[in-house]
Amino acid sequence: MSNHLFDAIRAAAPGNAPFIRINGGRIWTYDEALDLSGRIASAIDALGIRPGDRVAVQVEKSAEALILYLACLRCGAVYLPLNTAYTLAELDYFIGDAEPRLVVVSPAQREAVATIAVAHGAIVETLDADGAGSLLDLARDEPLDFVDASCSADDLAAILYTSGTTGRSKGAMLTHENLLSNATTLRDCWHVTSGDRLIHALPIFHTHGLFVATNVTLLAGASMFLLSKFDADEVVALMPQATMLMGVPTFYVRLLQSRRLDKQAVANMRLFVSGSAPLLAETHVEFEKRTGHAILERYGMTETNMNTSNPYDGARIAGTVGLPLPGVTVRVTDPATGAVLRHDETGMIEIKGPNVFKGYWRMPEKTLAEFNSDGFFITGDLGKIDTDGYVHIVGRSKDLVISGGYNIYPKEVEGEIDQLDGVAESAVIGIPHPDFGEGVTAIVVRKPNTALDEGAILHALHDRLARYKQPKRIIFAEDLPRNAMGKVQKNVLRQRYADLYAKT
Ligand code: ATP
Ligand code: MG
Repeated sequence: MSNHLFDAIRAAAPGNAPFIRINGGRIWTYDEALDLSGRIASAIDALGIRPGDRVAVQVEKSAEALILYLACLRCGAVYLPLNTAYTLAELDYFIGDAEPRLVVVSPAQREAVATIAVAHGAIVETLDADGAGSLLDLARDEPLDFVDASCSADDLAAILYTSGTTGRSKGAMLTHENLLSNATTLRDCWHVTSGDRLIHALPIFHTHGLFVATNVTLLAGASMFLLSKFDADEVVALMPQATMLMGVPTFYVRLLQSRRLDKQAVANMRLFVSGSAPLLAETHVEFEKRTGHAILERYGMTETNMNTSNPYDGARIAGTVGLPLPGVTVRVTDPATGAVLRHDETGMIEIKGPNVFKGYWRMPEKTLAEFNSDGFFITGDLGKIDTDGYVHIVGRSKDLVISGGYNIYPKEVEGEIDQLDGVAESAVIGIPHPDFGEGVTAIVVRKPNTALDEGAILHALHDRLARYKQPKRIIFAEDLPRNAMGKVQKNVLRQRYADLYAKT
């Protein structure tokens, strides 16, 4: 038996060609990275970690952190990355839930996390290139000839917690097959080759930065500029040496604010990918006007990796998330009856394919509830498939507003509000209402020094939206509550304003 995902990575590795480029710093070749991953795997093994054990990792983005991921795969351990923004209380929850045998943290966190980890029966190690006693220090003396644990396609490679946008994060169990099949498909669909150089500015504890950006790079034998965070000017300055950027919509909004972004700056780039949240059609159109590149938007989630992508060759349609990936089946069903809907009819998006996870960690009932009897995963996203086969997402089912018997998709109302002068951003939610069931309510963040008031917004929306879609109230706020991935938490807003329409 082989070590499934890692064997494929090793087979694709182009010897001493560059893998990780630290901007202004060193280059790690594939040989160097794979050698170090073997030594770390050996050190982890010496700590008593066995195949199937969870290894939780909460460290800053670095080459060593990615190499630690490879080491975990080689040990047959289940890699469990944790968001660096998590507080100690949150860590306590995740470590208690996942019960890792080993927790790897940054040196500054060691003491605080040790108390939590030890309470849950885990060992703590640090990851620090220079620090004595860190995992890298332990790895230094290990031999190079680590024998990789054998894993089957169905074994867990990782548990990844969802972003926690709609409620408490859930641990998604992902197998070697889930990760390998999806990254191979994306590599082929996006024509990624060893000549590619990716600008990697995403976090590495989320599906996008880890299982899309990193795995696709590895399986193509390509290289990446590893940036600790996104900075528009730094990214534009790197473009002449790079070929691809994978980002979230805010990357593109910020790139458009950079005066350095023009056709000359992107002359060497061949691919711009966006995902994790809806890309506004205006951003797509403006970016194409400015650079000549149509952003390729794709749709995925922690539980399923990637589901759809706009085509590499062919029309990339703004406002859609493209076509189902090869091997992935996407269908839309009626949330009330479960009947499969026809083209252009809006309902629940469901997914089936080798990309779909094995279930939620220690939540068998939740897992059962989220799968249909014929094996389709119920995503919780609402959308439709048009007659050309393109998938459109209209929002999350938990965010759908039902007012006076009508379905209102917040995205449509937010789109109208966001276009008004003086509006920075908005979130539309449904709040219990004595007459309508739910009252459409808009939380609006104004740009500085604007006089826009509730009356002006309602007046402006009057001719733009059918009456039942118009907000009953506009509430102004300083900002919108976001989770660690930057996604707006509408459940927090719904709670905050729960009594807005309560009869006194
Ligand atoms: P939680 O499941 O914990 O509430 P989350 O769903 O935000 O959090 P992720 O798995 O990180 O956690 O995000 C997946 C979700 O992101 C999808 O279900 C979808 O709602 C949204 N999403 C991803 N890509 C796109 C896209 N291109 N357009 C619109 N929405 C997208
Ligand atoms: Mg989700």
